[in-house]
Amino acid sequence: MDDLLTIGTFAKAARLSPKALRIYDELGLLLPARVDPVTGYRFYTPRQLEQARLVAWLRRLDMPLARIREVCTLDAPAAAREVRAFWAQVEADTAARRDLAAFLVDHLSGPDQSQDPGAPQNGTRLRIRCAVLTDTGQVRAGNQDAAYAGARLLAVADGFGPGGDLASAAAIDALKPLETELIPAGSLLNALEDAVSRAGRAVQDLADDEAGTTLTAMLWTGSQLALVHIGDSRAYLLRDGGLFQITHDHTMVQSMVEQGRISQAEADSHPQRSLLLRALSGDRAATSDLRLHEVRAGDRYLLCSDGLSAEVPLPELRRVLTTVADPEEVVRELIAAANRAGGTDNASCVVADVLPHQE
Ligand code: MG
Repeated sequence: MDDLLTIGTFAKAARLSPKALRIYDELGLLLPARVDPVTGYRFYTPRQLEQARLVAWLRRLDMPLARIREVCTLDAPAAAREVRAFWAQVEADTAARRDLAAFLVDHLSGPDQSQDPGAPQNGTRLRIRCAVLTDTGQVRAGNQDAAYAGARLLAVADGFGPGGDLASAAAIDALKPLETELIPAGSLLNALEDAVSRAGRAVQDLADDEAGTTLTAMLWTGSQLALVHIGDSRAYLLRDGGLFQITHDHTMVQSMVEQGRISQAEADSHPQRSLLLRALSGDRAATSDLRLHEVRAGDRYLLCSDGLSAEVPLPELRRVLTTVADPEEVVRELIAAANRAGGTDNASCVVADVLPHQE
């Protein structure tokens, strides 16, 4: 058996304070090898040094105690996977909070915005020019996608199950009243959240529990786009030549990527890649992602169903979006590309360009 070290010697070797070691003991994170029954003095073995350092590092990551306890029981490769999964979750949470903070800063420092489309923002008046197209594809008998581009609302929904076409149409219809409602700037996200609840209820009111739909939609306010998203349809932003996916797929494979269990390339070709973790469905309510997105003149937005994003390779998507000027022509070319690639699913897209307002 290893020689026992006093708490003072062990603390010095582990570069921790005796107080920290006593706390780790009380929390069950690092138990002493022996506690003197008379004096209560704690003793440790040199082999516990590594675990003591690991606990200290995990505490510095603000990992919850229960999770630290679990990591300490794992071998090194499994512990590495667990730390990677924990950190991916922290980054996802931080990104969501960053969006909210950016919105609050903008909201608190700007003048009260009316919801008039084309309202002045930083002295610039903006407008959008958009186009929409949905297509059955080469294989499916019917089209369960729905897509819409109105004066203020852009939306794509991908229905599934029996009556999936009704579900996708009902979800978009439930958002349409937002196009004509006057919404105070501070209430925009709440109004959108209410509309999504309406969409969820509309889908649940349809007959079949198995039916459901994704929904990715943007509401244009004249200076901002409010974004709502659930499922695996996507929104992309083309800005300054860079193409960014601004939604997060609610799929099983995407969560496996974030946990470090599979690579992005493996996810893209995974046979179960369309298995959804969240959707508006007949049998359960699920939360949507909601956020506000500051727009700039020159931005181009693409909303699309997975029949387009899964079929058309990213370089081709980027080529069409960067080289074709007219949104009507862009949607036609993108759908044609999906069909050339096999057209195995229904494909839909909305393209919207943000332009300076014409005087
Ligand atoms: Mg689809």
